[in-house]
Amino acid sequence: MDCRQLLIDAGLRMINASLTVETWGNISFRDISTGNIYITPSGMDYVACRCDDILVYKLDGAKLEGERKPSIELDLHLSIMRSRPEINAVIHTHPVYSMVFACLKQNIPLIMDEAAQSLGEEIRVAEYALPGSPELAANCVAALGENGYACLLQSHGAVCIGESMKAAFRTAKVLELTAQIYHMCRQIGEPVPISKENIAVMRDYFRNKYGQGK
Ligand code: 13P
Ligand code: ZN
Repeated sequence: MDCRQLLIDAGLRMINASLTVETWGNISFRDISTGNIYITPSGMDYVACRCDDILVYKLDGAKLEGERKPSIELDLHLSIMRSRPEINAVIHTHPVYSMVFACLKQNIPLIMDEAAQSLGEEIRVAEYALPGSPELAANCVAALGENGYACLLQSHGAVCIGESMKAAFRTAKVLELTAQIYHMCRQIGEPVPISKENIAVMRDYFRNKYGQGK
């Protein structure tokens, strides 16, 4: 599929799944055949966005195509793509339950098997920095670490990544579900995190063996 259309569809999916509201959030995708990064424009209604509104950048930040202003989080997306070469899709969301923990500046432990399988590591909160700042990009890369697939941005939202757009959306859905269930658990008790050893076993199983054709 055309990379621009992929981003248009992803924006609609993000807003329809209530992973953000209005024009907040942003999405990028790396075309592995060229290495070029496609990213959503700044402050545009996802429903009104057309292929021509998408911008294209090289990994070093040089602009290749696009007339619109890019997402203010361009630096954050490019920084993640540089530090994690296996990652080809980045979705920055503003979802309700994840936001609760982002505002409390509390990490979300992996308390469910699907979270252990697909999110990689405990969900850490990146130190606060202003939206669109180079500091926020650096803090986000640090919070994701080498193996994490999601992190929270303090008082701001979440960043969810994957090898493909499909995988990044899986991260986004499982993160928000985990945040919701963690919140519910804490109303009536203290949930038990899955051990580091079992997280490692399940992560490996999910990546390399789970599903058909592996
Ligand atoms: P953009 O509309 O510029 O992508 O910004 C939205 C946002 O969520 C900033 O963090
Ligand atoms: Zn944001």
